[in-house]
Amino acid sequence: MQLDKIEMSGFKSFADKTVIEFDKGVTAVVGPNGSGKSNLSEAIKWVLGEQSAKSLRGKKMDDIIFAGSQTRKSQNIAEVSLYINNEDKTLAVPHAEVVLTRRLNRKGESNFYINREACRLKDITNLMMDSGLGKDSFALISQGKVEKIFNDKPEDRRSIIEEAAGVLKYKDRKQQAQKKLSQTQDHLNRVEDILHEIY
Ligand code: ATP
Repeated sequence: MQLDKIEMSGFKSFADKTVIEFDKGVTAVVGPNGSGKSNLSEAIKWVLGEQSAKSLRGKKMDDIIFAGSQTRKSQNIAEVSLYINNEDKTLAVPHAEVVLTRRLNRKGESNFYINREACRLKDITNLMMDSGLGKDSFALISQGKVEKIFNDKPEDRRSIIEEAAGVLKYKDRKQQAQKKLSQTQDHLNRVEDILHEIY
């Protein structure tokens, strides 16, 4: 699996459609302070499902939409697409290329797409979970993250190891199954109460 390309428009400082291709090997993004290097990594994080505006250095989510500059007016939509080479089938879909897209407008309406088909955020997080490119994975190390990992509580550090070991997906499914079981038990209790009242 390899991130081949990212396309952004209206995302933070990237007002116009901007396409960045990543060749095989190491790619370094260099530029003066404030030129948008961190915005690029945040665009990746955003498509992968980041829901915290704070993690994207904003106060509210629509702070990620291009806010205008001295020469240009603001925009109303931000859209980012990640083009992922999946020839090695790391991601559990039959496509050789997976395109993940997220779009947000100023009304707060957010849309997600996998290969241009509308989907839920959950579909993207499920697909990427344990691939090594989840939004909280080690693949994205933002400023201050190393220090945070050192200072984290042991249980928080464990979740990083679980993600790396590939057990996070199963843990998540187990939690969902337990929630369903508990809801079903509540319904059964309610049925028993009703039966008790009738007989
Ligand atoms: P440094 O080297 O200092 O870390 P950088 O290259 O990582 O800088 P970023 O932090 O990615 O730069 O970009 C900051 C720039 O993005 C600032 O000029 C800021 O005004 C601009 N910016 C952030 N959000 C928006 C937005 N919603 N609309 C327009 N510009 C924005």
